[in-house]
Amino acid sequence: MKMQLWMKDFFGLWYPPVCVGCDSTLSTGEKVLCTSCLSSLPLTDFHKGNDQLLRDLFFARIEIEYATSLFYYEKIGTVQQMMHQLKYGGQEYISDYLGTWLSSELNESLSFQDIDLVIPVPVHEKRLKTRGYNQVSGFGKALAVGLGARFRESVITKTRNTIKQAQLNQSQRIDERKSPYKLTEAVAEGSHILLVDDVVTTGTTLVLCARELLKIPDVKISIATMAIAV
Ligand SMILES: [Zn+2]
Repeated sequence: MKMQLWMKDFFGLWYPPVCVGCDSTLSTGEKVLCTSCLSSLPLTDFHKGNDQLLRDLFFARIEIEYATSLFYYEKIGTVQQMMHQLKYGGQEYISDYLGTWLSSELNESLSFQDIDLVIPVPVHEKRLKTRGYNQVSGFGKALAVGLGARFRESVITKTRNTIKQAQLNQSQRIDERKSPYKLTEAVAEGSHILLVDDVVTTGTTLVLCARELLKIPDVKISIATMAIAV
């Protein structure tokens, strides 16, 4: 990435003056992504009606109220580039940017309007140290602000550092009965919780976190992710 002065938008988000998708210099009015990369993004629009793909992933595993992902994840392309920069390139602002984007979309939808609490999928302490941040926190905070909900970071803790599910083959995948996630803070009974993550692939991480949250009486779970791998 070219070294230039970062820019600040109306909401106080700092971002570099180059497109995160293609590294070209941003023009006036462009933010984070250039117009060309922005128009190429594969939006799912799940929250505008058809969320069956995501519902099918959780069917018979956990009960969910609403579920959405902002984009389809492609192995090559702008979404992959954004996720890579967010997770491995220190570009934390991408998290906030995508959360603000999704929250404005959700505010036009009838669903997601009664969320009380937004909780990010936790990362293990070790990974938090190397990365310096939970890549989903900014996304969750921006969604909480937009939906008028609270954001709480440490309700669930990851007690073991595990290999990413997507990198394992079917027989190696984590046994859903041996969860590395633990509920570590109290949450009010009957809360409607929005659980957020970056890319949903097998859904196992979200299922395991949701099962911890479902130990709280009468909670409802909804899910929002930046992208869904198909
Ligand atoms: Zn671009």
